[in-house]
Amino acid sequence: MDFALTDEQQLLLESVDEFCERYFTEDVVKQMYETHCMPDEIVEAYRDAGFGLMGIPEEYGGIPADRVTIGLMIERLYHKSGCMHILYQNSLSMFDIMEFGTEAQKQEAMEHYLETGWPIASLSISEPGAGSDNRSMTAVTKKQEDGTYKLSGQKTWVTMGSVLPYTIVVAKDEDPSSDNGSMSLWLVKMDTPGVSTAPLHKIGQQCIPFCEVYFDDVVLTEEQRMGNSGEGFMMLMKNFEVERAYIVAEQVGLAQAALEDAAKYANQRIAFGKPITRLQMIQELLCDMEIKVQNTRNMLYRTLWMMDEGQPVQLESAMLKRYGCSECFNVANDALEVYAGLGYTTEVRIGRLWADMRGNMFGGGTHEIMAYIAGRQVAKKYAE
Ligand SMILES: Cc1cc2nc3c(=O)[nH]c(=O)nc-3n(C[C@H](O)[C@H](O)[C@H](O)COP(=O)(O)OP(=O)(O)OC[C@H]3O[C@@H](n4cnc5c(N)ncnc54)[C@H](O)[C@@H]3O)c2cc1C
Repeated sequence: MDFALTDEQQLLLESVDEFCERYFTEDVVKQMYETHCMPDEIVEAYRDAGFGLMGIPEEYGGIPADRVTIGLMIERLYHKSGCMHILYQNSLSMFDIMEFGTEAQKQEAMEHYLETGWPIASLSISEPGAGSDNRSMTAVTKKQEDGTYKLSGQKTWVTMGSVLPYTIVVAKDEDPSSDNGSMSLWLVKMDTPGVSTAPLHKIGQQCIPFCEVYFDDVVLTEEQRMGNSGEGFMMLMKNFEVERAYIVAEQVGLAQAALEDAAKYANQRIAFGKPITRLQMIQELLCDMEIKVQNTRNMLYRTLWMMDEGQPVQLESAMLKRYGCSECFNVANDALEVYAGLGYTTEVRIGRLWADMRGNMFGGGTHEIMAYIAGRQVAKKYAE
């Protein structure tokens, strides 16, 4: 068992540190949360540093990287910036397009990224009546006599849906009823007639907007399909395992930032004539926060390593998302406890981290759904 970083990983993390130190000053971050967007300068610098190209196939201009290394980069990116920005999410839609997209879709996605630094597409899965229960979605495509398709339905909580030029939509084929398990993926341009959006307002993660997306008889052609017809659901499920691990990498980074803030503050804050770090109850909080961060980090890298080894991780990724997202959120909650009154103001960033991290317990699948996935696997594991 080797926990050491390679020289390349070490260098990568140093360049992530430099990038974050240079661009994510607290004033810039505050502005991002007020304006709900990120300056182009940061997006372009991220692209130029090559971070957004990691894991994308070399023949499309990407940089080869295993999942452990990408996880390390994501964790450090959120730890050092101390905010819930959009940057690495480029990789998520790009990975979907690289895996399931047509040659023309891949080329266009790369051209767009290299030109702008912004991801090309958001992901439209959830519906007002179908969140955890994706199979109950009612967005549907119906084939027309001329060979085109008409898409109708509504998606919700679509991260960056109103900002990015395309959205990847999963929709039922022909029949919207819940017994129809046949779904397909489509790459839909947001300025196509019949596509419209309405903003939604979050209680955290405000620098990444999300919205509802409406599809009103939107005409699609066969070229807009991603992957095989009818396999949309399975394709999404497959990539969720990776996405869940990367959400936990974000969460570990943010929890580390919260822990460091709380420990620094506790060293300075005087109560009853001494720094509060001398109070045993504060020591217990700090100790448990460190345990939670270290435990989640170890689970994260073991899961990513298993993926790199080609091992199945359905159980590990669900356990990781369930344990890691909530324990890291608890770290932020404990950090808020250490700050007490000051933590409940906007003078310090802990309240922002706390609200941002709560959202990661829903995106990519809820705490309960992770138990639903993992519990069945555990039962199977010990059946004999
Ligand atoms: C920050 C953020 C970003 C997001 N980004 C996107 C995005 O880009 N694209 C997108 O399509 N969606 C996105 N979502 C939506 C997200 O995927 C859903 O919120 C999530 O899947 C849960 O669905 P729901 O909110 O409808 O909850 P519901 O499914 O209605 O769940 C309500 C409650 O019931 C529980 N529950 C449901 N089913 C079960 C079960 N079988 N067993 C036990 N408990 C159950 C849930 O755990 C939860 O506690 C985002 C959400 C958030 C918060």
